[in-house]
Amino acid sequence: MSEVLNIQEIFASKVFTLGKMKERLPKNVYKDVKRVMDQGGELSLATADVVAKAMKDWAVENGATHYTHWFQPLTGITAEKHDSFVTHPDEEGKMILEFSGKELIKGEPDASSFPSGGLRATFEARGYTVWDITSPVFLKEDATGVILCIPTAFCSYKGEALDKKTPLLRSMEAVSEQALRIVRLFGNTEATKVVASVGPEQEYFLVDREKFLKRDDLIFAGRTLFGAPAPKGQELEDHYFGTIRERIGSYMKDLNVELWKLGVTAKTQHNEVAPAQHELAPIYETANIAVDHNQLVMETMKKVANRHGLNCLLHEKPFAGVNGSGKHNNWSLGTDNGVNLLDPGDTPNENVQFLLVLACIMKAVDTHADLLRQSASDVGNDHRLGANEAPPAIISMFLGEQLEDVVKQLVETGEADHSIQGGKLQTGVSSLPDLDKDATDRNRTSPFAFTGNKFEFRMVGSSDSIADPNTTLNTIVAEAFCEAADILEKADNFEMAVHDLIKKYMTEHRRIVFNGNGYSDEWVAEAERRGLPNIKSMVEASASLTTEKAIKLFERFGIFTRAELESREEILYETYSKTINIEALTMIEMAKKQILPAVMRYSKSLADTVLAVKQAGADAAVQMEELNAVSANLAAAKKALISLEDKVAKAADISTEKEKAFYFKDVVFVAMADLRAPVDTLETMVDRSVWPIPTYGELIFEV
Ligand code: ADP
Ligand code: MG
Repeated sequence: MSEVLNIQEIFASKVFTLGKMKERLPKNVYKDVKRVMDQGGELSLATADVVAKAMKDWAVENGATHYTHWFQPLTGITAEKHDSFVTHPDEEGKMILEFSGKELIKGEPDASSFPSGGLRATFEARGYTVWDITSPVFLKEDATGVILCIPTAFCSYKGEALDKKTPLLRSMEAVSEQALRIVRLFGNTEATKVVASVGPEQEYFLVDREKFLKRDDLIFAGRTLFGAPAPKGQELEDHYFGTIRERIGSYMKDLNVELWKLGVTAKTQHNEVAPAQHELAPIYETANIAVDHNQLVMETMKKVANRHGLNCLLHEKPFAGVNGSGKHNNWSLGTDNGVNLLDPGDTPNENVQFLLVLACIMKAVDTHADLLRQSASDVGNDHRLGANEAPPAIISMFLGEQLEDVVKQLVETGEADHSIQGGKLQTGVSSLPDLDKDATDRNRTSPFAFTGNKFEFRMVGSSDSIADPNTTLNTIVAEAFCEAADILEKADNFEMAVHDLIKKYMTEHRRIVFNGNGYSDEWVAEAERRGLPNIKSMVEASASLTTEKAIKLFERFGIFTRAELESREEILYETYSKTINIEALTMIEMAKKQILPAVMRYSKSLADTVLAVKQAGADAAVQMEELNAVSANLAAAKKALISLEDKVAKAADISTEKEKAFYFKDVVFVAMADLRAPVDTLETMVDRSVWPIPTYGELIFEV
């Protein structure tokens, strides 16, 4: 028997939970903390001192030597700078460990080396980290020891957001405020806030670490830049939900334990569609905590992989020809008195509040499809969205049969008098029970699908922070709620007004609803007829942040200023160019120093063979043919290599970040594909023993 895992014991053992605070803090201090958590406001410095001391004592008891303000700069990952609890020793040379309320609440890391997209050129270089009291403090343990991590927001001297958390928190407040106005209209006087909840499903690949280390492209770019397809791909559909292999199973077990300790509710695990691809989903929680936890999930996935001799690839497209990885962002809104605004109930046609919420979301998603699309773009995701893979780059909304029918009734007749019911599922086997069927089947191809009592935004990339998509979702929905509340609060006859408004919004924005196959070419044409945007790449999507429409939206709800938006757009261009530049340089390095030399050695051995065979008086036609074919592809590869080098060099002449990003997309990225093609062909021709890097077959099947 293996050791018995006691989840109850290990769960949140590394988290300074409310329970621990209650135990360790004086009653009035605990109450204060709880009040600020629930209602906002500030802790007095004296109170913060007490909290900090309790936190430090707990951390030190658990082996911590340092603390850090853990934050999420615009690199998309997390940042930390460790400070030890060490102070001046006292007269007798004894060390007193200290951690003050001031240190807990505010930090001042040097902000100058984080991306700021020009914000710092105009403003000061100072940056502050500020404790997000609503996200629990936790202990991180690795080779550096045990570190007390304090989730923080990161802002500039003038208060501009330099991170992903600040705008997210702002958007959560905005949507709460506006959603409250909606529920008040329906007589809910008890709710004091509306909380955005998020459950992200995280996809990832695992490869053998030794093989990983033999490939510069995986090391530097996180994805393969060369690689001919293996004889087998995902066509047998035998990996999805397949039995989990031992090595992967022991990884998953370890991963779960580490996540549980950190208070992450790791819930589901399974093999995904592509060979070597897997998924983990936690249980949903408040948006900002879900964002923090998703960062921990990604980090822990990588860390635990190393322990198992594996490497975890979070890139959106590690391998050509098999599925890439995404993150399904499940999102809903609920009041603090327990009402999920996205729960339609059994008869949605009678649920007026739900219908209004739905109409507002339809309006929000249709009006700001470009922003939603943008929020899910990152460099790696360009290989999925709008490329040959799901989901499509066009935003549409799947409602399912039942809701689509209600919308149809409302739009066409002004009344919805029934809801399609699911009925019974009959298996035709007498020993199996008949089940109640859901009123709606699933649709796997929609980028934004209603799934029962939440929306599932499926466009997000696997390596990306989920902060941006949720910031955008919260904000666009806040706007729609605000506009609806402005009208309805003034209405003389609420019943009539709400009825008319639902019909109006649903009629005007019905074009965003699409229940068919989102992967089909017909849909692309149909979406164009409907006038829905089809933004094909991250670079093209970036400008949607600074349209007048977007600036008005984000400024109105205090999420971003124009300057913040402009800086973010700038950073996106920079990030794109830098990433593609790294990929191109990696290809050049691999082609020049590994692949072409290996092929040349191989062609020499072929040439030697030709000579030897001829000398022996036999027919060397086959060997000759082989040599010619290899030489032809070698020549093509060499030509493409020179062209790529030339194009990368020319990027230095481009002055604006935007132009440069387009250049990398339209010129360098294309030249990379031109180099890959002959190299992949060569891989299929040469003797396996001379190929200098592990093949696709070895990487994705021999894990
Ligand atoms: P599937 O793969 O079938 O879509 P999973 O169980 O893998 O579903 O993931 C669904 C995710 O949605 C989980 O993280 C779950 O906690 C989350 N979820 C469920 N209900 C809600 C809700 N009301 N709001 C937000 N997320 C939710
Ligand atoms: Mg899932």
